Amino acid sequence: MGEETLGIARPRLSLDQARELGRKLYGVDPSGVATLPSERDQNFHLKPDHVLKISSASEERTVLDFENRALQHVAREDPSLPVPRLIPTLEGELMGETASGWICRLFSYLPGKPLASFKPHTVDLLRTLGRTMGRLDRALAGLANEAHPRTLKWDMTRAADVLRDGMARVETHDRRAILERHLARFERNVLSRLLELPRGVIHNDGNDHNILIGRSGEITGFLDFGDMIEGAVVCDLAILCAYAMLDKRDPVGAAATVVAGYHEEHPLSDEELALVFPLAVTRLAMSVSICARQFRDEPEREYLRVSQAPAWRLLERLEGECDRFPHYAFRAACGKDPHPDGAGARRFFHAQAPTSVLPFPLAGEPIHVFDLSVGSQELGGLEVLEDVECFTSHLFSKMKRTGARVGIGCYDEARPLYTSAIFTSAPEGGSEPRTVHLGIDLFVEPGTPIHAPLDGVVHSFRLNDAPLDYGPTIILEHALGYTLYGHLSSRSIDGLERGQRIRKGEAFAEVGDFPANGNWPPHLHFQIILDLLDKEGDFPGVARPSERLLWLGLSPDPGPFLGIESKMAAESDLTAERRQHLSGALSLAYERPLHIVRGSKCFLYDTDARPYLDMVNNVAHVGHCHPRVVRAASDQSAVLNTNTRYLHPNILEYAQRLKAKLPSSLEVCFFVNSGSEANDLALRLARARTKRRETLVLDGTYHGNLTSLIEVSPYKFDGPGGDGAPDHVTKLPMPDGYRGSHRRADPDYSERYVDDVRAILEGRRASVLIAESILSCAGQIVLPPGYLAAVHRLVREAGGVCIADEVQIGFGRVGSHFWAFEAEGVVPDIVTMGKPIGNGHPIGCVVTTREIARSFETGMEYFNTFGGNPVSCAVGLAVLDVIEEQALQENARKMGARLIAGLRELQERFDIVGDVRGRGLFLGFELVRDRETLEPAADEARYLVNRMKEEGVLTSTDGPLENVVKLKPPLIFSEEHAETFLDKLASVLEEDYLRPS
Ligand code: PMP
Repeated sequence: MGEETLGIARPRLSLDQARELGRKLYGVDPSGVATLPSERDQNFHLKPDHVLKISSASEERTVLDFENRALQHVAREDPSLPVPRLIPTLEGELMGETASGWICRLFSYLPGKPLASFKPHTVDLLRTLGRTMGRLDRALAGLANEAHPRTLKWDMTRAADVLRDGMARVETHDRRAILERHLARFERNVLSRLLELPRGVIHNDGNDHNILIGRSGEITGFLDFGDMIEGAVVCDLAILCAYAMLDKRDPVGAAATVVAGYHEEHPLSDEELALVFPLAVTRLAMSVSICARQFRDEPEREYLRVSQAPAWRLLERLEGECDRFPHYAFRAACGKDPHPDGAGARRFFHAQAPTSVLPFPLAGEPIHVFDLSVGSQELGGLEVLEDVECFTSHLFSKMKRTGARVGIGCYDEARPLYTSAIFTSAPEGGSEPRTVHLGIDLFVEPGTPIHAPLDGVVHSFRLNDAPLDYGPTIILEHALGYTLYGHLSSRSIDGLERGQRIRKGEAFAEVGDFPANGNWPPHLHFQIILDLLDKEGDFPGVARPSERLLWLGLSPDPGPFLGIESKMAAESDLTAERRQHLSGALSLAYERPLHIVRGSKCFLYDTDARPYLDMVNNVAHVGHCHPRVVRAASDQSAVLNTNTRYLHPNILEYAQRLKAKLPSSLEVCFFVNSGSEANDLALRLARARTKRRETLVLDGTYHGNLTSLIEVSPYKFDGPGGDGAPDHVTKLPMPDGYRGSHRRADPDYSERYVDDVRAILEGRRASVLIAESILSCAGQIVLPPGYLAAVHRLVREAGGVCIADEVQIGFGRVGSHFWAFEAEGVVPDIVTMGKPIGNGHPIGCVVTTREIARSFETGMEYFNTFGGNPVSCAVGLAVLDVIEEQALQENARKMGARLIAGLRELQERFDIVGDVRGRGLFLGFELVRDRETLEPAADEARYLVNRMKEEGVLTSTDGPLENVVKLKPPLIFSEEHAETFLDKLASVLEEDYLRPS
């Protein structure tokens, strides 16, 4: 009945026998029985709540006893830790016995998916993993090792034997060499220190199959206490890190997050921290070695080889990396000085301060400290960066104006300047570019000599000639640490020799000029470096924001050394300030709100210069901060801004240009400040014309934030805090062909929705219908074919006029037409415009027929202080120019088709994508839990939008059920943007939270 594995007989019970044991020994009557994987035991899931574990009779009782006691101890010490609970037999025994002598134990069943296959491994999840392991080690701490000493192959102190054995068995030379290097390092550097570290009972097997994760990324199970030994406690963390690094874009970063979590619960000493990484790679090397042996012994177990692929990939990838770096990264993650001797090195540099690298001291010199941060107004629009000459004169003329001989670029400043591939495309960075400046920039005339601030020797020099790189670069080595000089002249490195002595004060190089200096405005990049990480002639001068503390620790602030203040002030907590000063009725997007300080084209940038592809802002119609639009506003603002009580050509030119885009019956323009104001005025015009108030609206829609518009917006009056429809407002059923009362599958569904409207209007008079031609807040709903034209007819028959609300959808967004109502084949009586009309400048507009405009001329003046002012009209004209000159309506058509095709493919692959719809660049997809019942997936939609944001893409949810993800990017959206979006969306749709459970 047993099978020999690993020297002990492996039990082989049938499902029925397991069920029977559950009943007899434990009084458990399972709803079903299934086997669960185990290396040496036999495990059964007695559904739903239990696991029956059958161990070989030859297992040592003392070992199983110890395991049982450990589990009970952990449960007592930290009851909320997700470890299995041991359930006694009916007789009160912790272990039962089968008729044939197998040992059985019953445990609580822990749900969840193994970490190995769970997606995604977010920073939160990795940190929680570390924390949970820290708690487990804390809970195990009081446990005396009552088991007699065990010899386990997984004991880290035995790594040398295991690796030697592995070396004899792996197949390729390269892999043998990797194991050999790890063996040498382990024996030379690790073993003796490992034996000195604090010891205790450890779990010893936090691998990615022993940890279970729930759908929301919470840890639901920490399994398998069968490999517990007494050992260095830090091994538990190292083992966890080894598996947490597998297949990560940034393995060291992932491990650092785990370490930080662990340190919160179980503080680590410096010496423990120093050994985490070496032990983690040792564990990986042990794992592949043990597996190589098993595979040699049992070649039919091909899966063993497959399961080791990620460990080999990681070991191969880590080859050639400086092994001090993870140590620094882990220290930084725990809030320690990244470099263990950082304080000493800083003291060394400070002791020589102030010194200078220029021919004159900086202290006392008239300097101008530039703001080159992301949101810098001094920098202005990013187009200044497109031409180095223009950027240079921008900076140097500022210095001239302020009488400064030197311009300073600050240390620890996140900047939008680093746009070339060397900053944006490192695979481990994902979508997080390097932006944080690690040195100080000194902007001076090219050719300015550079003097050594300290005695040193030339460590290395190089021409770093990638776009926007350092150009010619020199690194000097000093008694403690190094200094780096970037953007030099080519002459500076000619004839230089490594090891050449350079005396303090000696001029050894000069400031370069563009393009040879990396194509930057002339300046010296000066940086102090405590550890060069084995690099030569180069070292990162800019870091990823998530690694800020680490790199700033390795490159301390050169300001005090040079006698200047160059660090930007720390930021305040804006969320708290908002709470203090603003109404709680204002909401913030995303679970972790964004602090955006710059917009350019299709992107928004946060304070770290992290770019976010904006797929939701239909206001930034021609792209964020379009220079043409910005210039129009600024040029006209410099000359005149006043109201419409004076003659001015801008308003007239603008009215004519807008009218040229509209049907000829729409002749009279009113300019206001927002879409809401436009709709409010449109209602007044309609009511003035019909002398009645009865208003028809489509269910679920929104028309603005004024009192009059909340009254006609079911989205608000039927939503939280709403008072329902007022008496003068009638809702028409939302003509939703996907989940409404009539659906697209019915060929007559449009006619049926029209019939509903006909029935509502039967025998009634109407004043006005206000409707969008694609419903926005109601869930990106495209109207059924012919519906709007028929409804317009019915409304007019009932004596009403028709308002087309184009606030969201106008200005070429739908691609096929300039206005969305044109795609429905209707000519409204009144059109309202807002949002995109001013590309962010507050403009609204109402255009109507001469006849309706006349009914409004009652003697009461219409005055709007800001509406139609010369600046707003100049902006509106610039927006129209850009739409036309850049052919943006056509781009909306093409890119819309591209996105729809991509979304339809995803709809085929992922059941949760129930519907894809929209026109041009006004699109949406609806998430459902079940394609038959259409159960809305609102939590999933919220999850998706927040995850996409973490991945650098901004979307949002809408619709009455909050389960529609809407997409309405700036019309300059490109093929490349579409691909980025679709790739990221596909990857998020694969995440566990969005998969059917
Ligand atoms: N109409 C529609 C269809 C809208 O979506 C909105 C705003 N979301 C408005 C009018 C009101 O525009 P604003 O908030 O700019 O006043």
